[in-house]
Amino acid sequence: MIISGLQPTSLSDYPRKVSAIIFTQGCNFKCPYCHNPQLIPSPISPKLSSQFVLDFLKKRANLLQAVVITGGEPTLQPNLIPFLEQVKALGYKIKLDTNGSRPNVIEEIAKKKCLDYIAMDIKAPLEKYHLFSGCSVNKEALIQSINLIRSFNSSYYIHYEFRTTVTRSLLNISDIIQCGKLLNGAAQYILQDITPQGLGKNLYSKEEIYSNQEKKEILKLVSEYVNVYWRNY
Ligand code: SF4
Repeated sequence: MIISGLQPTSLSDYPRKVSAIIFTQGCNFKCPYCHNPQLIPSPISPKLSSQFVLDFLKKRANLLQAVVITGGEPTLQPNLIPFLEQVKALGYKIKLDTNGSRPNVIEEIAKKKCLDYIAMDIKAPLEKYHLFSGCSVNKEALIQSINLIRSFNSSYYIHYEFRTTVTRSLLNISDIIQCGKLLNGAAQYILQDITPQGLGKNLYSKEEIYSNQEKKEILKLVSEYVNVYWRNY
């Protein structure tokens, strides 16, 4: 595991649980609005050892309920599953944030019962994905992840959300509807405005944010396919 950061406490990253956040280094995408661009390059030497993080979690087991693994793209980490097994053995709920590019890893984590919640980013409709990921993507792999995650509630009792960061100049209303269609029947789809953080600061402006009236219309249109809401920060 290449771990570049540990946020000791969060009240908002795991729904209704007090969590710690572990940031893994390295990502196979290069999104234009990435919140954590310093976590994209790989390889890089770890800033924190896995043992340090596990010791921390052991000490905090009475105060924390959950661990969020984010990045970067955590599924690229070669020792992710043994690490998660150790976190699980400490009694934590685990949430994984992923770009969905490695469905086999997601499935393996689920089979090992090391997953309680998963959040997959849906960057754009599939035909526009390369503009958002900053690289060519394996669309079949993304579809495989979507199908797998959508089956989780019934097959593994794993909660999930799909989420899209919305910018007016990059995603028009028809694009957002296409994303909803892609997720047809999913239990939870979250739209969120771009924020002026990380690479997003280059794109952020008030004009990029859809108005409340437009958001209402978008939600109505997308809700024909999927349970959708707009997350406000
Ligand atoms: S997938 Fe996530 S971590 Fe990777 S570049 Fe995109 S926003 Fe950043």
